[in-house]
Amino acid sequence: MNDALPRDFIRQIIHSDLETGKHTAIVTRFPPEPNGYLHIGHVMSICLNFGVAEETGGRTFLRFDDTNPGKEREEYVEAIERDVRWLGFDWDERLTHTSDYFDALYDYAEQLTRNGLAYVDSLSADEIRAHRGTLTEAGKNSPYRDRPVEDNLDLFRRMRAGEFADGEHVLRAKIDMASPNINLRDPALYRIRHVAHQHTGDKWCIYPMYDFAHTMSDALEQITHSLCTLEFEDHRPLYDWLLDQLKPEHRPRQIEFSRLNLAYAITSKRKLNALVDDGVVSGWDDPRMPTIAGLRRRGYPASALREFVKRGGVTKKDKLIEMAVLENCIREELDFSAPRRMAVLQPLKVVLTNYPQGQVEMMPSSNHPNRPEFGTREVPFSGELFIEQDDFMEDAPKKFFRLKPDGEVRLRNGYIIRCDEVIKNKAGEVVELRCSYDPDTRSGTGTSDRKVKGTIHWVSAAHALPAEVRLYDRLFTVPDPNAAEDFMAVLNPDSLATARVMLEPSLAELGVGEAVQFERLGYFCVDSVDHSAKAPAFNRIVTLRDSWAKVEQQAIAQRG
Ligand code: ATP
Ligand code: MG
Repeated sequence: MNDALPRDFIRQIIHSDLETGKHTAIVTRFPPEPNGYLHIGHVMSICLNFGVAEETGGRTFLRFDDTNPGKEREEYVEAIERDVRWLGFDWDERLTHTSDYFDALYDYAEQLTRNGLAYVDSLSADEIRAHRGTLTEAGKNSPYRDRPVEDNLDLFRRMRAGEFADGEHVLRAKIDMASPNINLRDPALYRIRHVAHQHTGDKWCIYPMYDFAHTMSDALEQITHSLCTLEFEDHRPLYDWLLDQLKPEHRPRQIEFSRLNLAYAITSKRKLNALVDDGVVSGWDDPRMPTIAGLRRRGYPASALREFVKRGGVTKKDKLIEMAVLENCIREELDFSAPRRMAVLQPLKVVLTNYPQGQVEMMPSSNHPNRPEFGTREVPFSGELFIEQDDFMEDAPKKFFRLKPDGEVRLRNGYIIRCDEVIKNKAGEVVELRCSYDPDTRSGTGTSDRKVKGTIHWVSAAHALPAEVRLYDRLFTVPDPNAAEDFMAVLNPDSLATARVMLEPSLAELGVGEAVQFERLGYFCVDSVDHSAKAPAFNRIVTLRDSWAKVEQQAIAQRG
């Protein structure tokens, strides 16, 4: 760990535990439930759990929390492993499942029962709910609460043996129905569910509840610091109660931090699942999704995501981070790492009337303005080019320094050209420009030192590679769709636009996932799903400049 950096409160605790000798090695875990793909919020948890272990020479478990048979799928398990690895982390042999511990968890539950700290309740789910009380009102004891230990043990064993139907009995901890903390009002430890499990098959028909399974799995894996999000703060007394009663050899400590929420994005697997199921997006890896799979396909580098969560920090305060912060991390990384190329998004044809018929010149072009080690490439130049429609204006204001009638502009890595004639179609739209070039102004080797104010990009028409480009925008129209009553009602109908574009020919060689800057336009990458040599498809990762920061700040300020 870089000692010059200020430490967040979790790293302070961890370092102090190492200094005082409370622990000699840090052990953490990332415990996703495989019921969906991981999202940007999980990136924070992954970077924190794997990060603190890595920084201190400790270790981290990737533990699948698979206590909900039926909801969990192998597709999700594979996606989660792929995503954690892609982010740059490794669990070595420490890939586990809560289900790996079902035997040990059952033994712990029997131990509680033997010690009079757990009982089998035979109330229905509705009755249990009615007995629970409210935030202001104490709960009521179940009539089964004082069952003798022998009866409890017998019933619990028969629950396990499959003698009862779902919901007939539950095993509950015997704590305090009058506790101001509802989590301590005799929480359920085991429920009956006659459902096959993806790992344990038909071996079990009772499954442990989350709090119990999670606490004791932490203890079994000898986790030192169990880092979780703030909503589990009220569960900590139960976590500690279980450890106090069961006294496992290793006692983990739970520490809570605030969730990472990203403006204009949803960070709930359930809601993301709804977007997929309803066909609002093309899948979990749709490049507009805040899933790791979506962000990767969009072209966001893993290093930029790690940097993003680092900047967000680890705190106890709820926060909604602006999209601009994430996009700036992406830009900074890509500005450094992405080679430059030329592409025209809205082509307008330019014919150079004085350029020798059939001539093609190869123009050496730098691949990165600040990184000479990226080298140069040769871009073909000819008498018929495409420029950006926006780079020409017929009735241009004085300060317009791109191309206008009788005006001059420099073609990047090319020549200075003058617009002599504007050709229009019947509808009065500009369809072609007739221009002349000044042969003495070739970039780099020209003899003229003439300067013009504007420089624009271009692509040679005969050599251009036609492609589809997808331009992405926010998926939602409000900064906090998580808080919206109906998140489906605040979808941005313009979150995806496609364009037929013209690329410089070298872009045919770009590999899947590789990012480039289309000069003056933004960062783009080859799409990993729809792209082929015959039908190239590129995704816009991010624009060059942030056009959103202000709007977003205002929106967030108004929201208060
Ligand atoms: P979701 O609501 O999306 O299902 P979850 O918390 O139920 O989220 P899990 O698979 O249980 O999803 O999460 C695995 C780990 O990731 C947990 O430790 C959880 O606290 C953490 N985590 C989930 N969402 C966020 C978030 N937005 N910010 C930080 N950590 C998160
Ligand atoms: Mg969960």
